[in-house]
Amino acid sequence: MRIPCPHCGERDLREFTCRGGAEALDRPAPDAPDEAWDSWLHLRENRAGRTRELWQHSGGCRAWLLVERDTLTHALYRVRDIALAGRGQGGRGRAKGGRAQGGRGR
Ligand SMILES: [Zn+2]
Repeated sequence: MRIPCPHCGERDLREFTCRGGAEALDRPAPDAPDEAWDSWLHLRENRAGRTRELWQHSGGCRAWLLVERDTLTHALYRVRDIALAGRGQGGRGRAKGGRAQGGRGR
């Protein structure tokens, strides 16, 4: 599988590290109930089919990417830099009150 990094172009999968589902971007508010924090910290879905995941171009520019792909067919639908994705563009972007997980090499 090859992933088109928005900064470096198409690169081999081995240059990237998958960091899990993009729901990690939906961090609860600091005053959210314990159940919301428990769910965010510990409960993960293992969806088959179309997913949104966090990947880092760890062997390249180190940018954090939002990758939309199908885990069954390996089709890639969209790859965006998380720092540039933001809210209101189909990506959930940063959660209110949370820090971005985007950026490079920090
Ligand atoms: Zn890159």
